[in-house]
Amino acid sequence: MEILDSMARFGHEQVAMYNDPNTGLRGIIAIHDTTLGPSCGGTRMWPYESETDALADALRLSLAMTYKSAAAGLNLGGGKGVIIGDPRTQKSESLLRSWGRFVDTLGGRYLTTTDVGTNGRDLESIHQETRHVVGLDVTLGGSGDTSIMTGLGVYMGIKACAGDAWGSDSLRGRTIAMQGFGKVASHTAKHLLDEDARVIATDISEDALGKAKSMGVQVVGAEEIFDTPCDIFAPCALGGVINKDSIQRLSCRIVAGGANNQLATEADGEELQRRGITYAPDFLINAGGIINVSTEIGQPYNPDRARQQTERIYEQMSAVLTTSRNKEISTARAAELLAETRLADVRRVRGIFRG
Ligand code: NAD
Repeated sequence: MEILDSMARFGHEQVAMYNDPNTGLRGIIAIHDTTLGPSCGGTRMWPYESETDALADALRLSLAMTYKSAAAGLNLGGGKGVIIGDPRTQKSESLLRSWGRFVDTLGGRYLTTTDVGTNGRDLESIHQETRHVVGLDVTLGGSGDTSIMTGLGVYMGIKACAGDAWGSDSLRGRTIAMQGFGKVASHTAKHLLDEDARVIATDISEDALGKAKSMGVQVVGAEEIFDTPCDIFAPCALGGVINKDSIQRLSCRIVAGGANNQLATEADGEELQRRGITYAPDFLINAGGIINVSTEIGQPYNPDRARQQTERIYEQMSAVLTTSRNKEISTARAAELLAETRLADVRRVRGIFRG
């Protein structure tokens, strides 16, 4: 892969690579854009088959973080770290501390947190070597579990879509079908149930299904969820679930959930629109987690402030739905436009020129 060409294609500012023979660490940090503030994004640990795959993932994920933070109105840029290795067998304190030293070399241009393959305890090891870490446990002065705010944000986004679709954002008596009943889904479901909505869920984990049942959620089989008559389908597990096959089976009016990368392709978003199904762009509706960590930067974490900022997802979602209608573009494109407009405005203020 031609690295500079790849960076130029999507406007990445910096790619840093690190090799530490003492610990076996091999990793990459990609900084996409720091117009709005320091780049922020989790550290992913994954057994990539090649360096090219790892680099491609870092570039793709850091770009997505720029859009997510910009659309959420945060003063953060987009960044991502990837460690090449199997988190189940190759993770050690020394490797994570070495990663922390690498993060530290960037002097705060990149703030890290957890992602696939890393957890809160790993973050504590990374934090031994750098202060450029967010999302530490609340007992350590961090903002802790992101899924609580992510769940709240998903609920706010669902309400905004309901208001747009039905003229009232009340979810009382509405049926929401959730694919996946993990951390985010269960927090979202709590808000939905408090509003007397009917929640149906599936999961592949018995523990998750047990939790769903204990909350009063009706449980169905993993495949059955796509054919379940509902008002709102909420993908809360995997990426790529909205695809040409699943779209044929959905009978909902709204698709809105917490999972990342829900659309298999851009065309699937357009197909939802063609069928009269409102799609809540994933990076907008699931921004509660990054909003939560952003509120601990430069000040002590304040959950009330995090909650207030997360609740704004309602307004942002409503604005995106209006833009989508007025400009006759997909909701996903309208959300991208929201982010791009904000970035362009701030670049203009700061006299930053981007070709
Ligand atoms: P989680 O691991 O707690 O929950 C995911 C659940 O999905 C698990 O219970 C798992 O068993 C289930 N699942 C996996 N494959 C499934 C399948 N084929 N059918 C049904 N269920 C299946 O993770 P989470 O933190 O709740 O995250 C859920 C989604 O939200 C992910 O896509 C994640 O990237 C995204 N997300 C999470 C956050 C956050 O703050 N945690 C923030 C933004 C986005």
